[in-house]
Formats: sequence, structure tokens, C-alpha cells
Amino acid sequence: MSVEARRYAVFGHPIAHSLSPEIHSAFAKQLGIALDYRVIDAAPVVFEAEVRRFFAEGGHGANVTMPHKLVALAMADEVTEAAKRAGAANTLTHLGNGRIEAHNTDGSGFVRDITERHGFDLRGHDALLLGAGGAAKAVAWALMDAGVKTLTIVNRTPERADELADAIGEPARCHTRYWDGLDGECFDLVVNATSIGFDGGKFDLPMSIVQDHSTAYDICYGTAAAGFKGWAVAAGVRPDWFRDGLGMLIEQAADGFERWHGQRPDTDPVYRELRQRF
Ligand code: NAP
Repeated sequence: MSVEARRYAVFGHPIAHSLSPEIHSAFAKQLGIALDYRVIDAAPVVFEAEVRRFFAEGGHGANVTMPHKLVALAMADEVTEAAKRAGAANTLTHLGNGRIEAHNTDGSGFVRDITERHGFDLRGHDALLLGAGGAAKAVAWALMDAGVKTLTIVNRTPERADELADAIGEPARCHTRYWDGLDGECFDLVVNATSIGFDGGKFDLPMSIVQDHSTAYDICYGTAAAGFKGWAVAAGVRPDWFRDGLGMLIEQAADGFERWHGQRPDTDPVYRELRQRF
């Protein structure tokens, strides 16, 4: 007797480029789980209604990507600590009777990738975070939890960086700077969590903020990470100490997958496969 596949989906707009169906299908195949994972392109005006319809028609879980992560949080009945801290949700679970739980796996996925895959022990290091959007918030909290010595946050709109640092509430370890006020500082780790690379924008940062022992990590991947990599290598980061967000993407997916299916997939084969393309 065949097992009926449980239904999942990723919602975004646009969404055609999403790797989530491929990643979740690979995890499911590895663990022998029957999976029906769809791509749903929902414009902002219909997003909430589409999610509710999907769950009403038997959907179990949904991944959410731009531009819906804030509404995904707002529409939920239950919100995990990780989603609260990020102020955004990338994983929705149907709890039954139309009730929805919002969760965020970006922070845990980032830390798992940088520590376990790339062997960077975050403890005791000085980190600089570029950005204060949803992904940056998740990464900021995760960096703090992972034990960085200091976390400096800069953002184009400085008030958003200040709000994030205030929410973290550890001024001795976590503080903000103006984007153009970084001269004279040097960091072990610089994380780009902005979407500058998508617009082909330039990284206007002093080269002195990194040395050849520094690691640079762009949470974007593919061509969107090229601009930050170019800046980092020109500033003195060793090319093989630059990391992109492909591994984070796979780890955050694995965290959501484990939440839904109760089993943790082996992410390495999926990473190796996708690395050949990005
Ligand atoms: P978001 O909430 O819209 O935040 C965007 C951030 O980028 C804000 O800090 C914004 O600054 C900054 N920014 C945008 N354009 C800029 C520019 N031209 N100059 C300077 N700063 C600029 O987006 P998000 O959800 O945090 O996502 C950010 C990026 O991370 C996206 O590219 C996304 O694809 C990527 N991401 C990757 C993963 C992964 O698994 N690898 C997961 C999540 C997100 P302001 O506050 O001043 O607007």
C-alpha cells in the first residue's frame, strides 16, 4: 500500500528560483519519506489567504521567503523565540484547526554552517554584522548565543541597527557603529546580511577592518555574493576564508525539515551537489 505524501510548500514572490523544493526532496529521498513539496508564487495581497487555503486543504508546513517573512510572523497563532527575535518567520507549521506556528531557522542554519561545516569556532571572536533586516536579526542573536566576544552592527538605516542592539540588550558585548564610522576597527569575522549584492551595489567599507586572519561570510550565494567576496579579497581576506550562504540555506532547510519530520537529514551530500552549481 502506498503512503500518501504529506504536503509542504514554499511561498514567495518571485519564487521560481527557489532551491527549497530540490533541497527538501533530497532530504526526503535520503530518509525514505514520501513528500509532496510545491512552489507557490503568492503576491503580497494574497499571501495570507493562500497560506490559510494551503493548510485548510491538508498542507502540513510551509517555508516562506521574501517578501512574506514579516506577514508570516504576524499571521501566526504561536511564535517561537527564534521567530520573535528575528521579527520574521521562514517556517510555518499547521498545528491543526487552522492554527499556525511561526518559526525562524536562519540563525541556527547560519551557525551550524559556519561552525560545523567550515570549522569556525565563534567563541571569543570579534564579529561585524552588516545589515539589520530579518536575516541579520536572526544572525545577530545566533552570533551572541554562540559566544562571540563582541558583535558590532552597522546598517544603512542606523536606527534599525540601534533597535537590534537594544533588543539584544548586552551593551558590553553588542553595539552599533555608523556605516562610515568603522575606521580604526578590525574584526575576525565580517558577515554580510544585507541584500546589497542583489542590486549589484558596492561595499563601501574601509579595507582596514579585516586582516589576513579574518573570515568573511556573505549569507547570499551565487552571483549575489560576488560583490562582497570581491571587496573582502581585495581587503586582504584569503579567498578560501570567504564563505557564502549556500550552506546556511541548506542548514536552515534541514532545521525546518527536522521540525516537521522529526528526523535530521545529512546535509553534506546536498551541499556537495549544489556546490557544483553555485
Ligand atoms: P530585509 O529584511 O529586506 O533586509 C535587507 C537588509 O539589507 C537591510 O539591512 C537593508 O538596510 C540592507 N540593504 C538593502 N539594500 C541596501 C543597500 N543598497 N545599501 C545598504 N544596505 C542595504 O532582507 P532579509 O530577509 O534580511 O535578507 C537579506 C539577504 O539575505 C537577502 O539577500 C536574502 O536573500 C539573504 N538571505 C539568505 C539566507 C540563506 O539561507 N542563505 C536566508 C535569509 C536571507 P536598511 O535597513 O537600511 O533598508
